[in-house]
Amino acid sequence: CGIVGYIGNEDARDILLKGLSNLEYRGYDSAGIALLNADGVHVFKEKGRIAVLRESVDPAVHATLGIGHTRWATHGQPNKRNAHPHQSASSRFTLVHNGVIENYVQLKAEYLSGVTMKSETDTEVVVQMIEVFANEGLSTEAAFRKTLKLLEGSYAIALVDAEDSDTLYVAKNKSPLLIGLGDGFNVVASDATAMIQKTKRYVELMDEEVVELTRDSYTIMDLDGNEKTRAPYTVSFDA
Ligand code: GLU
Repeated sequence: CGIVGYIGNEDARDILLKGLSNLEYRGYDSAGIALLNADGVHVFKEKGRIAVLRESVDPAVHATLGIGHTRWATHGQPNKRNAHPHQSASSRFTLVHNGVIENYVQLKAEYLSGVTMKSETDTEVVVQMIEVFANEGLSTEAAFRKTLKLLEGSYAIALVDAEDSDTLYVAKNKSPLLIGLGDGFNVVASDATAMIQKTKRYVELMDEEVVELTRDSYTIMDLDGNEKTRAPYTVSFDA
C-alpha cells in the first residue's frame, strides 16, 4: 500500500527502509526492497513487518538506486513469493506496484503465454510484459509506456532496469505517487511523509503520466511519450 524510490549518491538501503517505515500507517501485510548496483539487482522481501524485512536485508549490499514497497494484497495470498518487488523472466526488470490491474488475466493470455509466472499477483504481468516488449526491440521507456497503455485499473509503479543504473522509471494512474527533488538525488513516494526528512520539494503527478528520473533530472511524459513541464512546490510541515 506504499511505494518509495531513491536515485542519488547515498546508500539507498536505509533511505528506503526509513521511507517504508514512514508509510506503515497506511497498512500492509508484507514489504520488500530492490537495490541496483554494479553487481545487478538485489531483491529482499518478507511477509510481515518492516522490522522483519530489515533483518533480512544483506548489509553488505550497497547501492545508490533502489525501490521499496509495502503490500496490501489484492490478488494472491500475503506471502513472501507474492510480496513485491517482482521481476521479469530474466530478472532484467524489477518493479513495485500499488493498485489493481483489472485486466491481468486477459493480458497474461494475450502477451505472456510463453512465460512461466513466479507469483499469483496481478502485478507480475506488468513486469513480464515490459520484458517481452523490450525483447522485441523497444527501449525500456517505450516498453514501459506500451505496457501501461494496455493496462486497465489503478497503478503507482516504480521500475528499474538492471542494465541501467542511472534511471528510475515511475508511472501513475488512480493511485497516489509524488516525485521529490533533492540536490544530487531524486525520490518517489506515495506521499510526502515517506521522504519528508530528505526533501520538501515535490512534483505532483497526474493520471497516465510516466517519469524518467536520474540523479539530477526528471522528465514527465504522457503515455505517448510527449514531454510535459511541471513546476515543483514546497511542502511545509514537520514530520
Ligand atoms: N494488486 C497488487 C498485489 O496484490 C498490489 C497491492 C498493493 O497495492 O499493495 O500484489
